[in-house]
Amino acid sequence: MTQTTAPQVTEPVAHVLVGGSTHPAPLAPVVNPALTSETVGWTAMGTETDADLAVRTAHHAFAAWSALTPAERGAYLEDAAAALDPTGEERARLLVREQGKVLWEARMETGRVGDMLRYYSSLAEEVAAEKVTVDARGTLRVRRRPMGVTAIIVPWNAPVYLAFLAVAPALVAGNTIVVKPSELAPLALTETLTTLATVLPEGVVNVVPGDGAVVGAALSAHPLVRKVLFTGSTATGQAVMRAAAGTVKNIGLELGGNDPAIVLESARITDQLIGELVKGVYTGTGQICFNVKRIYVHESRYREFLDAFTAAVDEIVVGPGLHPEATMGPLNNEPQLRRVEELVERARAGGADVATLGRKLDPETWGSGYFLLPSVVSGLPDDAELVRCEQFGPTVPVLPFRDEDDVVDRANDTEFGLAASLWTEDVDHAFDLSRRIESGTVFVNVHRLGASDITMPFGGMKRSGIGRNHGIVAIEGCTEMQVVAHRVDHERLPGPHLYGQEGS
Ligand code: NAD
Repeated sequence: MTQTTAPQVTEPVAHVLVGGSTHPAPLAPVVNPALTSETVGWTAMGTETDADLAVRTAHHAFAAWSALTPAERGAYLEDAAAALDPTGEERARLLVREQGKVLWEARMETGRVGDMLRYYSSLAEEVAAEKVTVDARGTLRVRRRPMGVTAIIVPWNAPVYLAFLAVAPALVAGNTIVVKPSELAPLALTETLTTLATVLPEGVVNVVPGDGAVVGAALSAHPLVRKVLFTGSTATGQAVMRAAAGTVKNIGLELGGNDPAIVLESARITDQLIGELVKGVYTGTGQICFNVKRIYVHESRYREFLDAFTAAVDEIVVGPGLHPEATMGPLNNEPQLRRVEELVERARAGGADVATLGRKLDPETWGSGYFLLPSVVSGLPDDAELVRCEQFGPTVPVLPFRDEDDVVDRANDTEFGLAASLWTEDVDHAFDLSRRIESGTVFVNVHRLGASDITMPFGGMKRSGIGRNHGIVAIEGCTEMQVVAHRVDHERLPGPHLYGQEGS
């Protein structure tokens, strides 16, 4: 990304926002993935000094914010929701232009921020709950306390939604925050956070856009940051873990996946099943952490499935996300486009059968964006790169299986463990089989955006992450448990005898 200093800009800018004020920083352009000659806006390229100032400001604001009751903090979140609701559509359009996704998906993101803030506000009573036990030994109080400054590091694929999955529980729990948006899609998120920051007390919400290796690394290592909530790739998550180790920070990691979908012998290949799996693979142009990344189909259904699935994928229309006819947008950035193109090419060169499908909405402007037609790849061995890696793009390998035990082993034979799905008419059997699947979520007859709602714990096993998002577990993840023990019956406490008294 080329850096420029202080250009005269009229487009939106993702500023460094500390203590309610913007701070000057070098700016870099944010380009439209559907039309790369278009600069949608500018992002501040924050420095380590900006990160430090933001953390210190959040640290200063922590005492007053954490001293409010959860209900008082919840009331602030509701005010912020009310302030954000009217501008959701505007921010959805901005998100399309910086990220590439189609408009209905962007609306799902920006339109849900208010609901998310209200939902976490409704959990305030649970944050406040203190468990008190009184017995002959005395009184025991078990409570949850906020941690302190929480750094929230965000990827580009669903920047607004994913950020607020961390922002809302962290705030209602009493933490103050520093958010690091992705340099590839920072605009709609920073606008949303700026509105939030104006409604909340000064210094509670701070934003430092910029390079991950600079700002993200500085936040992950900063001694005053007590929690890092990171969403992104496994490799970066590992870097965050290493940086956080220096000060033994608590971390939450939402990382990559290689989700298998298993179409069992007991499945019927209906339009609904096919439609759901097409959404599961291609929504977000395949750039959603829990997109279906591999499909295993029982051999008795394989041919029928492949024909129906291929025909349905062929209906996809690829074009700019704001165009009403486009059902799939471009990839977000050039390295991602090249990576997926090359993966598909290597699969083809290795002898796989690659069906390139769908329609170009406008063949003339195709090369002006990071567009890629969807594909379906069959005839791959289990050790093929496309089967083993997280492709994060609009292509999927389809593989036959004969034996259920064998397919469970193949599905689990991955370093990832985010989500998986079982497709069958025999739902009880799916519930049984789900116990053997190594993933944080096992869906049954569904596996797509919208299937994991905010009340349902979400997160990965193995290298897909640490901790769980959504609902009360997310709030617990932003708090420390504290025990207050008042013991009255000292004679009966087991213990050392240091002064000649008898212990028991
Ligand atoms: P990424 O890891 O490249 O970047 C994520 C964020 O980390 C960005 O803001 C980036 O600037 C920052 N960063 C980069 N280097 C850093 C460092 N050294 N220290 C701290 N921060 C640093 O990921 P991405 O390409 O933006 O997103 C795609 C990945 O995110 C995919 O692997 C996807 O599966 C994963 N993801 C996971 C979930 C989930 O809930 N499990 C959700 C969405 C995306």
